[in-house]
Amino acid sequence: MSGEELRGFLRKIRAVAVKVEGQLRDLVSVNDLSDESVIEPVSLDSTEGLEIYRHSTSHVMAHAVKDLFPGTMVAIGPATDEGFYYDFDMERALTPEDLEKIEKRMKDIIKKNSPFLRKEIRRDEANEFFRRMGEDYKVEIVEEIEDDHVSVYEEDGFVDLCRGPHLPSTGYIKAFKLLSIAGAYWRGDERNKMLQRIYGTAFADKAQVREYLDFLEEVKKRDHRRLGKALDLFSINEEIGPGLILWHPDGALIRKTIEDFWRDEHLKADYKLLYTPHIAKLNLWERSGHLDFYRENMYSPMEVEGINYELKPMNCPFHIAIFKSGLRSYRELPIRYEELGTVYRFERSGVLHGLLRVRGFTQDDAHIFCREDQIEEEILNVLDFTLFVLRTFGFDRYDIYLSTRPEKYVGSLDSWERATNALKMALDNKGLAYKIDPGEGVFYGPKIDIKVKDSLMRQWQCSTIQVDFNNPERFDVTYRGADGKEHKPIMIHRALMGSLERFFGILIEHYAGAFPLWLAPVQMAVITVAERHIEFAGEVLRGFKRSGIRAEPYFENEKVGYKIRQVSVRKVPYSVIIGDKEIESGLLPLRKRGGQQSGPYLPEDLVSGLAEEIGDRRLKLAL
Ligand SMILES: [Zn+2]
Ligand SMILES: [Zn+2]
Repeated sequence: MSGEELRGFLRKIRAVAVKVEGQLRDLVSVNDLSDESVIEPVSLDSTEGLEIYRHSTSHVMAHAVKDLFPGTMVAIGPATDEGFYYDFDMERALTPEDLEKIEKRMKDIIKKNSPFLRKEIRRDEANEFFRRMGEDYKVEIVEEIEDDHVSVYEEDGFVDLCRGPHLPSTGYIKAFKLLSIAGAYWRGDERNKMLQRIYGTAFADKAQVREYLDFLEEVKKRDHRRLGKALDLFSINEEIGPGLILWHPDGALIRKTIEDFWRDEHLKADYKLLYTPHIAKLNLWERSGHLDFYRENMYSPMEVEGINYELKPMNCPFHIAIFKSGLRSYRELPIRYEELGTVYRFERSGVLHGLLRVRGFTQDDAHIFCREDQIEEEILNVLDFTLFVLRTFGFDRYDIYLSTRPEKYVGSLDSWERATNALKMALDNKGLAYKIDPGEGVFYGPKIDIKVKDSLMRQWQCSTIQVDFNNPERFDVTYRGADGKEHKPIMIHRALMGSLERFFGILIEHYAGAFPLWLAPVQMAVITVAERHIEFAGEVLRGFKRSGIRAEPYFENEKVGYKIRQVSVRKVPYSVIIGDKEIESGLLPLRKRGGQQSGPYLPEDLVSGLAEEIGDRRLKLAL
């Protein structure tokens, strides 16, 4: 194939770059290659191709910003999973109107279709160049590069320090949109200067950009922080502290429903319920290895009678202590302990995010102590249990990952292999598809992670199942074997929802706040038409409550339409409206969330229908 034919072919398959001997390179570099080189085209339809496309768009954005606002210093501008951003240091506080101006300027730059030209220059030359340009951040980056040469890219006079590759020219960019402005510390460190970050996205065509904007609109509508406030479910109070959740009555009721379900199902599955304290002596965390491996996530100790105590970042050592409180025989194993255990972990204030990333949270934790010959069966049980719990909450799509031995690990290679095989066998046995995450296991053992997909197909890490040989060793945990000798049990750590806070956040977004009947804090609204209907409505309300249905009165002296709106804003699943006709007939018409009507029903039929709908969830899943 001649050079011309090759380029034609690459255009045809929408190549934006190439891989030469496995290395990403600019598309134009094929001109300089010898015939023997192994070339792999990188098309715009691939993840890498899209990344190059988006990153190139971020160059164009930086170019436009510098044109419009002279004196701006540019920091970094990578592609992200959803688009790209660039960080700027500038006097002016950017506004949404500025984004429109920048977009317009970007379109001009794209129209010019200037090539992205790569140049390799000596490091000291680059240092000198960016110093002269007043680009302090680039100088800082250049100074950290160890190679003698660095690459810079130029496009119509705008030069940026960059490894590349990029699109052949700006005209390749067909569809993009600038989305938002945010503050971002240089290098993500709050001790550094706050820069202004512009987020944008780019796709192969305009239809895809529109689709993405619709998705963002939906994400915004479902934002758990917004809905948490609108539905009065939870709050975070600056006076109390960031990352610490206050559960309001309706949120607390949902949490109680989740907790009741969780504990009941664990007792049915032969787990034993535990409660453990929130603090423990610092020495305990030394022994558990947390001080070595986990210190940056722990708070400073507090001194009590001359001894240091520490807020717990994990529940494991407490469960170990309970296991060790008696002599254990091989016949008793497996022993399964469960606890909704509240832990505290330090997270930088900059990364805290509503319920999803917090400083104090309650793990739905459990530890299984078993013999080595029981691992596989226990993993199978845990897998079944996990999927059952996830399905109950409406998640039936998920991705499973098996994380193997990391570089830093404890334990013998042999035991790692056996544990990894046990996890694999269990997954194969269940016929579950999974991906291997090489080297991503915990230092004490391999693990299975399950990431659920919500109604917008977004992925959330919730469940984790970890095999551990290390802690039984460290804490000298033993059981008496059939041979009369002491043996070390295997420990399985697992959480199904992850934490109640985070899971609640995910649920709010998954359901857009319209919880299914069994989870809804208020299941039934009883609405009166006029004051003369209150007495009868009160009896109906009490009837619902006696039957265990979470019902609330809407008896105020307001128009029915206004009360229906209140109920709908609160996303209450059902309501009954009581007027003269209902009192005369004793029959109640049922109004469903969204407005659909049915009935009228006898109150007792209504109650048994609702009870069935609430009960159905478990009946169906218990099969
Ligand atoms: Zn670049
Ligand atoms: Zn644990």
